Amino acid sequence: GSLVLQDPTLLKTCAYINGEWQAANDGKSLAVKNPATGEIIAHVPDMGADEAKRAVQAAHEAQSAWAAMSAKARSQILRKWFDLMMAHQDDLARILTAEQGKPFAEAKGEIAYGASYFEWYAEEAKRIYGDIIPSFANDKRVLVAKQPIGVCAAITPWNFPCAMITRKAAPALAAGCAFVIRPASQTPLSALALGELAHRAGVPKGVFNVITGAASQIGKVLTEDDRVKKFSFTGSTEVGRILMAQCAPTIKKVSMELGGNAPFIVFDDADIDAAVEGAIISKYRNAGQTCVCANRLYVQSGVYDEFVAKFAEAVRALKVGNGMDAGVSIGPLIDENAVKKVQAHLQDMLDKGGEVVLGGEACGDLFFAPTVVKNATQQMKVATEETFGPLAPVFRFDGENDVLHMANDTEFGLAAYFYSRDIGRIVRVSERLEYGMVAVNTGILSNEAAPFGGVKQSGLGREGSKYGIEDYIEIKYVLLAGL
Ligand code: ADP
Repeated sequence: GSLVLQDPTLLKTCAYINGEWQAANDGKSLAVKNPATGEIIAHVPDMGADEAKRAVQAAHEAQSAWAAMSAKARSQILRKWFDLMMAHQDDLARILTAEQGKPFAEAKGEIAYGASYFEWYAEEAKRIYGDIIPSFANDKRVLVAKQPIGVCAAITPWNFPCAMITRKAAPALAAGCAFVIRPASQTPLSALALGELAHRAGVPKGVFNVITGAASQIGKVLTEDDRVKKFSFTGSTEVGRILMAQCAPTIKKVSMELGGNAPFIVFDDADIDAAVEGAIISKYRNAGQTCVCANRLYVQSGVYDEFVAKFAEAVRALKVGNGMDAGVSIGPLIDENAVKKVQAHLQDMLDKGGEVVLGGEACGDLFFAPTVVKNATQQMKVATEETFGPLAPVFRFDGENDVLHMANDTEFGLAAYFYSRDIGRIVRVSERLEYGMVAVNTGILSNEAAPFGGVKQSGLGREGSKYGIEDYIEIKYVLLAGL
């Protein structure tokens, strides 16, 4: 095939369970396609409930020894894993671009970003401090210890095939939890390559397992099995609701990173050139397929025409194509449904008075031209639904209160962006935006040292930062009495 690697053994076509490479019980497999070319890159096992139970059992058996290992020993393994990812950054990025489509430079960025979670949590592993609380009685002592929650399972999406896994696996393993991951069927190869590097880094068998195959069958086991103590999901709000309900009977701790519908607000007093630059990166990164991509651009009346003109000019410079080709900044969408959704949102805008400034059509099987549509209104689908594609609707607003009302008028609350140079406004608006993350005067905010996560129906819990470890530990209160 066209996927040429410096280290071909990073391309795995079996699942990684209990430290071994395994095929499906019935030998069935799934094809992994390159969305840019339609070419089949590889086949991976199409596993189901039985194999999922086997993976959970492997994690269950590995759990206590991993938890009993010193934090320093766990830390060293995670650090090695980070080093291996960076040493193989180019190959990992090639695999990622081949199965996911994003431009190679962006894929390399994702590998570095994904690896940074292992680096960060290798450090945090050693700093999961407990407390001694001032006692309420002379003959008693109040101790608080933090212990690993136990076996963790996760399901991740295709838009960040590497980083969505490491963001969960790194804190889980750092805390002393064994882990089972079921990656998206479109992008299992990046997950399996992580399994190979886990193996090389010395992660003990059963501590990190990758199972590929049927979403709902595997998902049922990972959410319902009582041996799994914590479940973490990144994906749509719709599927998140189902999985959370499946976790309810066993009272699992859950983390949910769900959909967004990010507003990107440009006030009259903004630096317009900086806002254009931020809007480009926020809107068109990964062809608009990230949960923190700007979904709605709100621009104040006084700068509306200027912003639209400069923004369209910047969008015109974006090159669409195969992510492996030089100079390409927008790759293909992941599949036909993704293209259909962009088309439906665009058509809905046109039906309701939207006016195309630039783009507006598909340009090859899964490629869609970066599109700018002005005169967007709150009655359009884009105002309430996540587009997940390269469509930028530009809304006009007059006052700060109006735009805050419109920006908050959604069930989602993941990321919001705004541009202003007025300090009073910056404080007011950042406090009133009902979002888990607010970026002021920048179009990009993800970082392993900062807490990523949403409010409202965008999710539960935080990933990354010192807070991210909390989702993988239990607090134990020990009262020493009769002293
Ligand atoms: P996306 O649109 O990003 O694919 P989804 O929420 O549909 O978002 O999918 C996110 C992940 O959840 C993917 O790995 C997908 O295969 C998986 N998934 C989808 N439906 C289910 C389900 N019913 N049970 C378990 N996993 C599911």
